[in-house]
Amino acid sequence: MSTRLLSESVQYLKGVGERRAEVLAAHDIVTLGDLLSWYPKRWLDRSNVVRIPDLTADMGPVTVVGTVRVKGLIPGRRGQRRGGRYELRLDDGSGQFMSCVWFQRASWVSKVFTNGDRVAFHGKVTRYGGSWSMSHPDFDRLDEEGPSLDTGRIIAIYPGHAAFEEVGLTSRSFRRIFWSLFKERGEEMTDNLPVSMAERHGLLDGRVARRAIHFPRSREELDAATRRLKFEELFFFQLMLGAVRQGVKRQAGPAFKADGPLVTAFMDRLPFTLTGDQQKALETIVGDVAPGGRMNRLLQGDVGSGKTVVAVIAALMAIDSGYQAAFMAPTEILSEQHFRTLSAWLEPLGIRVGLLTGSTAPAVRRDVLAGFEDGSIPIAVGTHAVIQDTVAFKRLGLCIVDEQHRFGVMQRADLYEKGEHPHVLLMSATPIPRSLALTLYGDLDVTIIRERPPGRQPVVTNMLWDSRRDELHDLLRTEVAAGRQAYIVYPLVAESEVLDLKDAESGFVEIREAFPEAEVEIVHGRMKSAEKEAAMARFVSGEADILVSTTVIEVGVDVPNASVMVIEHAERFGLSQLHQLRGRIGRGPHGATCVLMCDFKRSEEAKTRLKAMVRTDDGFEISEVDLRLRGAGDFFGTRQSGLPAFRLADILEDQLLLEEARAAAHAMLKADPTLEEPEHAAMRDWFRTFVAPKGLRLSRIG
Ligand code: ADP
Ligand code: MG
Repeated sequence: MSTRLLSESVQYLKGVGERRAEVLAAHDIVTLGDLLSWYPKRWLDRSNVVRIPDLTADMGPVTVVGTVRVKGLIPGRRGQRRGGRYELRLDDGSGQFMSCVWFQRASWVSKVFTNGDRVAFHGKVTRYGGSWSMSHPDFDRLDEEGPSLDTGRIIAIYPGHAAFEEVGLTSRSFRRIFWSLFKERGEEMTDNLPVSMAERHGLLDGRVARRAIHFPRSREELDAATRRLKFEELFFFQLMLGAVRQGVKRQAGPAFKADGPLVTAFMDRLPFTLTGDQQKALETIVGDVAPGGRMNRLLQGDVGSGKTVVAVIAALMAIDSGYQAAFMAPTEILSEQHFRTLSAWLEPLGIRVGLLTGSTAPAVRRDVLAGFEDGSIPIAVGTHAVIQDTVAFKRLGLCIVDEQHRFGVMQRADLYEKGEHPHVLLMSATPIPRSLALTLYGDLDVTIIRERPPGRQPVVTNMLWDSRRDELHDLLRTEVAAGRQAYIVYPLVAESEVLDLKDAESGFVEIREAFPEAEVEIVHGRMKSAEKEAAMARFVSGEADILVSTTVIEVGVDVPNASVMVIEHAERFGLSQLHQLRGRIGRGPHGATCVLMCDFKRSEEAKTRLKAMVRTDDGFEISEVDLRLRGAGDFFGTRQSGLPAFRLADILEDQLLLEEARAAAHAMLKADPTLEEPEHAAMRDWFRTFVAPKGLRLSRIG
């Protein structure tokens, strides 16, 4: 399709106009291209038009078309205002009548119809008082002339919004808008996939499909159109990921030495040996950073599987080779944690580590920034702030991102362009099923660490009712007496007037009273950074025995001596969050217990979550359950993860199609990396119009 057609404003389309165009724009429909990739949310089969004499009691929903004869509002008994109904009779010219009745919203309905209206009613019929009757039928007003877009066929129902309704953008008007779009501009439309691809994958022609999704002539045609457009959606997204990957790989990163003096010194001092999986991951990384290569890798491994050590060794390779490394984490707490770990490991080797977060004091900030710029600080730790434009590096050679699922595909693109085409190493503790991985990480190479460091004790997980809180206190007392530490996590910071939940602040007071012998600290998101940091530091050093907190400690916090994780109102937490929290313990040589405190009042879903937690400690199993419970869209939260909001495709249901589309995208990029072939012109136009600019910037297509 021509770029011109795709980028034309919807405003001038028949049935739109200025006001409606504004409302559509607020929902991201600005151009004809946007409109053409906006689809109905469901379809109703109204091809089944029946004449009144042919009605039978056992028919499913049917459509009856005719002329309205108003009977009007019929009050309830004794003139009650409630209990009345609205009734009309429908004359379809057969000599028999059907009545339509509304018991609810009767006075509203009474304003909708007038005598003589041509209307199609849809619903189930019942026999009542000697004639046929429909109660609360769906209805469509019919036009005087022209083809009927609303009845006698399968009709499309569009996503509704209050703002749409205010300007009369009902499904009925969308049908007319699309009708005139195809009537007026259909000739200019082209298939956005090459014929050969459609043939190979058994896809309906693009133009036919695009029209049929709005005006299907049969169930079969609708199915074929849906399949074709789902394929297209998945294909273009995979094409984008592939193009990004291709663009990243095209620029070689700096070449790193794998066994320079710092790497050797670090390995010699390491108090443990790397697991087989850590070793393998490291070998792959060495391959990535060899001359001519470009690392673009995701390191996946459950919490505590030892990803950080691997990343640190990669950073040392960079430093050994005269480059700097940036180590990023999604939160300040996690950045501080990494800063402490890295400082402890690297300062003995004479390497300065610089921490930069949103709350770094101005004087320190200046110092750290200067160190990055002149190269005297070879390793930067911090939140995403570290790669902002205001931060200059002398020679940045490696970007490491922890808990990368908090960053989206497009945010990743920023990393590749920083400094001298740095290598990128992403880490994630969220094991995800293949279909999601292909979509979220299709632009990456993936390495999985499954093996856990040796000597780890499995975590025992128990569910406990509030009424048995004594048992919890016994456990805490025993563990603290044995020199262990405990986390207690609450869903809220402070007492809430709305929610009857335990909160961290009251919990803190309660725990201090119950355990006078213990040192108790509190950490939550409303505290100042310095206070948070001080409290965390006391827990990390072992001065504090019990840490009361909200979920700010969720990711990455590493205190091997901690052996108890208590989660209050566990029924309120999501599965991956529960698993992340549990991952804070069981990192030392001693046994560990996770206690899920919960309420009797739990939803079925909450029960499933808690049961899964008690049953298994395996992150992949947990995430499969989570995915099934929540569906793909909510698994990570679309916005947060950069998971595209597909309009038709569902990456769980359409996994086979996804694999097919992915193979097609790869084959396409292999055959024509810049989409220059004339037969790919329409595809290139579509790609240009709908692929985010950053993805384009990195690719050679544009
Ligand atoms: P992750 O980032 O994958 O959640 P970490 O890298 O924080 O895991 O490792 C968790 C803990 O295990 C750390 O205390 C780390 O020092 C330790 N560790 C890492 N690798 C090993 C190993 N091979 N043997 C023993 N302990 C290890
Ligand atoms: Mg970690």
